[in-house]
This record gives sequence, C-alpha cells and structure tokens, in this order.
Amino acid sequence: MTLTVLEPATGRPLAEIPETTPEDVDRAVARARAAFPAWRAVAPADRARLLLRLADAVEAHLEELAELEARDAGHPIASARGEIGMVAATFRYYAGGVERHLGDTIPVDGGVAMTFREPLGVVGLITPWNFPLPIASWKLAPALAAGNCAVLKPAELTPLTALRLEAIALEAGLPEGVFQVVVGPGRTVGQRLVEHPDVAKIGFTGSTAVGAGIQRAAADTIKRVTLELGGKSANVVFADADLEAAAAAAPGAVFDNAGQDCCARSRLLVQRSALDAFLGLLEPHVKALTVGDPLADGTAMGPLISAQHREKVASFVTEESVAFRGSAPDGDGFWFAPTVLAPVDPDDRAAREEIFGPVVAVLPFDDEADAIRMANDSIYGLSGSIWTRDGGRALRVARGIDSGVLSINSNSSVRVSTPFGGFKRSGVGRELGPHAMEAYSELKTVYYATGA
Ligand code: NAD
Repeated sequence: MTLTVLEPATGRPLAEIPETTPEDVDRAVARARAAFPAWRAVAPADRARLLLRLADAVEAHLEELAELEARDAGHPIASARGEIGMVAATFRYYAGGVERHLGDTIPVDGGVAMTFREPLGVVGLITPWNFPLPIASWKLAPALAAGNCAVLKPAELTPLTALRLEAIALEAGLPEGVFQVVVGPGRTVGQRLVEHPDVAKIGFTGSTAVGAGIQRAAADTIKRVTLELGGKSANVVFADADLEAAAAAAPGAVFDNAGQDCCARSRLLVQRSALDAFLGLLEPHVKALTVGDPLADGTAMGPLISAQHREKVASFVTEESVAFRGSAPDGDGFWFAPTVLAPVDPDDRAAREEIFGPVVAVLPFDDEADAIRMANDSIYGLSGSIWTRDGGRALRVARGIDSGVLSINSNSSVRVSTPFGGFKRSGVGRELGPHAMEAYSELKTVYYATGA
C-alpha cells in the first residue's frame, strides 16, 4: 500500500510513500525495545553531544527541510525556515537538559532517600499536520534527552519532513532503533501504537475528539499520556490599548499558518466603546495580507491543508456575517481568503467551535469582568492575548482567564524554554520548557540505610 501526499498549493501529488501497517508498528516497537538498554546507558554527556549533533544536522539541512515543509504543509517559506530553526533549537535546549535532569536527596530517619528520574522505555509520539516537524521535535527532544526510544507517527497528510528527520538523525549518529518513524492512518497505525503493551507513553498533539479516544484507549495499559489538543483562544482588546498596534498584530494572531494553529486567536473580543475604531484600523491590515505561493518570498499566508478541510472552514461563514475579507488566489490549491466575521453572537458556531482556518469572530464586550467571563466561555483554554495600557488590568485579566499560555500586548505563544499546553479540553500536561523531560520519565525513590 502506498500513500499519496498532495501539495496544498497546487492540489497535485507531491510524493508517493509506502504506508506502514500495524504489524510494522509492532516491528518498530520491538526494535525500539531492543535499542533501549544501550540508549539509556549512554553517558549523559555523550547523549547530550548526540542531540547537539542532531541540532547541527537539522540546521545544516535547514533550507531543504524548510522547502519540504513549505510544499507539504503549505507554509510560507519564511515561516517554514523559522520553524525548522526552532526544531534545531529544541534539540539544542534538551541537549542542555540531559545533564540537568536532577533528582533530590531527602533526609529521613536512619539513612537518606534519593530520587532518580528514570526513562519510561519506548514512547509513541503522534502528531498533527499543522506544524509537522516543530511539534514532533517538542516531544522527541525531551523524550530522547530523558533516555527513551521513540516511535513517531506523523499525520498522514504531512509525513515528509519526519521521514527526512529520521534519516538525518541516523547520519548524525543516533543509534538504530532509538528514533523511528511509522507513516499511516491514525485509526490503524496510530491506534496500534496507543494500544501496544510495550509502549509506555503516548505524546499526542491533535484534535480534542481524537485525544479523548487516545486517553480512553491508553487506560487499558495504564499508559502515560500528554495531550495537546484544540483551542478557541481569545484576543482581548481593551479600549485603552494601543489600538493601532493591536490591529496590526491581530491578523497574525489568527491568520498565521492560514489559521491552522491551535493557538489561533479565533475570537477577537473588543471593548464595545472601541469596536468601530478598531475594525476601521483592522480592515486595511487584513486586506494587505499577501496570500499565495508558499515558496514565494513575501507570502504571508498559504493555502489550507486539503479540499476537505476547506469545506469545513467554509461551513462557518455566511455572507451576511462577513464584515470584510482579504483576497486569495483563484484556481488550483486549497485557498481561502482571510475573513472577519463581525459582530458575532456568542452562541454562534463561529464563536464556539475551533475553525482551524483563516476566519475570526469579533465579539464586543463591556468591561473587564465581561471580558474575563467571555474569554472563559469555552470548553478550551490553550492560548490568548490581552491588549491594554493598564498594567494592573493586564495581569488581573491574565490571572482570570483559564488558559495555559497568555501574552500581553503580543501574539507570542510558543517558546522553546517556556511551558506550553492547555487548560480544560485543550489538553493534559505541558510540553517545552524545563519540565518537559519530567513528562518522559518516572520518579524513583531509593532509600539508603546508613545506620544510626
Ligand atoms: P487529528 O486529531 O485528526 O490527528 C492528529 C494525529 O492523530 C494524526 O497523526 C492522526 O493520524 C492521528 N490519529 C487519528 N486518529 C487516531 C487514533 N484513533 N489513534 C491514534 N492516532 C490517531 O488532528 P489534525 O487534524 O491532524 O490536527 C489538527 C488538530 O490538532 C486541531 O484540533 C488543533 O487544535 C490540534 N493541535 C493542537 C496543538 C496543541 O499544542 N495544543 C498543536 C497543533 C494542533
């Protein structure tokens, strides 16, 4: 069986690759198990050195990987370069963590207790199509740094950079079996990883519906799970904000990666007294977005991932709800113009469901309490922004919103060195930052009786 990978900007086939089966997953897990004892025994400084070599190798292949990602996932080439740079930075960051993966010594009666952080064994990593290689690296780097072997199943729509990374890792000196990639459908190949008795943990990023199924299926073997799921984040703009700065940043907050971003601020909450002024400032920025060929310099937004996904995104838009929109190319490719819906009723689907496309719902609010209440009126809690010149208000609102990551007067959500993950149905656990290695290890306590 082969899998045809399409190029979203043209709708034409980009690659034909062999599809793995559940039996291939079993073989990959067996190879990983066999590789585990030697890998966990690699001296910390040597394991760190291997991860640094992998980071260097990713950088050496940056242009090739960025172009592959841009073609496979439809990302503008400038963004793809930044993403591959982040992959290298992630391996480098966790290389630095190998020798700082510390335990404690705890004074107790008659001796001393020590804690050790032990690797889990074989971990299964399942990733989505929106940021294929960065999201894989957020799991893979801490997993390997903590001494685990990993089997990665990328999304079947965008497997090409993961397959290249597997080859690059071997060239960089990672031992056979330590990191493998299996490509195939979630419901067969992914499911087999989740159910496999020799897989100790699943690190998953994807939709909330699939994440719920994974949590259920993982229960039978008491697998650890980290789940990074959907979002419906709020971009909260107060009337006292620098409205021009907020309006200039708002398109990037939701239309980056054509809105196919779990952190997309797809609800734009604007204080009613500033609503008309803000929309007036926003419109030219939306209309100025360059939507087109991902490989062309200067492109700000590429296509959606597939024709089927474009249909889903379109289902949120009715002509009477559109305040204004930008432009998109005609013709082949899964194009969709950046679209602003205003004002949107809080009960409307566009205000409640994750759209995962370049569509933003504008909702007016009255005061600070109203802003917090509306921002929290969601089953999700992943990301968000707050725009105000009042520092006290910024922090009060940030503390009041139930969300894993928030930024004040900025769109930033993800940094290699800071924890990332969701409240509520946006997930379980955190990735990135100094704690991620803990999620790929078990805490062991050893008591040493020293005598009285
Ligand atoms: P998806 O849930 O459809 O698929 C994600 C991965 O799970 C794919 O590799 C898929 O093949 C696999 N899969 C599907 N069914 C499975 C099963 N039964 N068992 C095991 N694996 C299975 O998600 P998607 O459409 O690829 O990605 C979009 C979603 O991902 C959005 O909801 C988005 O918000 C979310 N996401 C979240 C984050 C985050 O960090 N919170 C980041 C990016 C994307």
